[in-house]
Amino acid sequence: MLSIEKVDSYYGDFQALRDVNLEVNEGKIVALLGPNAAGKTTLLSTISGMVPYRKGSITFQGQDINAMNPEDIVSMGVALVPEGRRLFGTLTVLENLEMGAYAKHARKDLQKNLDRVYDLFPILKERSSQQAGSLSGGEQQMCAIARGLMTEPRLLMIDEMSLGLSPVLVQEMFRMVSEIAKTGVTIFLVEQQVNHALKIADEAYIMEKGTVVLHGPSSEIANDDYVKTVYLGK
Ligand code: ATP
Repeated sequence: MLSIEKVDSYYGDFQALRDVNLEVNEGKIVALLGPNAAGKTTLLSTISGMVPYRKGSITFQGQDINAMNPEDIVSMGVALVPEGRRLFGTLTVLENLEMGAYAKHARKDLQKNLDRVYDLFPILKERSSQQAGSLSGGEQQMCAIARGLMTEPRLLMIDEMSLGLSPVLVQEMFRMVSEIAKTGVTIFLVEQQVNHALKIADEAYIMEKGTVVLHGPSSEIANDDYVKTVYLGK
């Protein structure tokens, strides 16, 4: 579905991604793990068309995204739930969700998609007229994921959704992501919560210093000696 081959990305002269190769297959949950500053967010930004890449190729369902702008990439079915939620704090929950449906194809299905996200996150229906900035951290994360779903994505990319959430909520969010995957949305998840991520993911990639250093089925990655020592503290 998503195929990344030999990609290099830069911020000015600084090379943030180096020869990145990665595949996300349809219907799967794929986790991207790694330490701070490894380049995980940069990779999501590159896929979303916000950071240009100088070498290599990125294709989504066979189409090269190189010349596309971020709006076109969303219209193709790729949604990003950014780190830090980035909600419009003074707008209501409903208004934030409506902002997610700006693409033409999603606008016509707005009510259907709204019903669907309210089914997944009933608390958002209860809070629909509340300002997003006054939601709890967990509710804000649900709202950010729901806003991503309002674009009718085939691939939902979620950056650090568990950041700043309590352990109980983290567990709940991972359960929700599994539920979303069961509805047919492919998931690409950037996470620091390695243990949780490996439990729900089919496959995992480990990225360090701008490049992929390890890849495999989650069960294999969870049993890898290097991963156990460095990432799972075993
Ligand atoms: P974290 O888990 O801390 O979010 P990450 O793996 O997502 O880390 P990135 O945010 O992709 O890492 O950052 C990769 C490198 O690129 C870092 O060295 C960072 O300082 C640099 N970087 C990120 N954004 C920019 C930017 N807008 N301009 C310049 N350098 C940047």
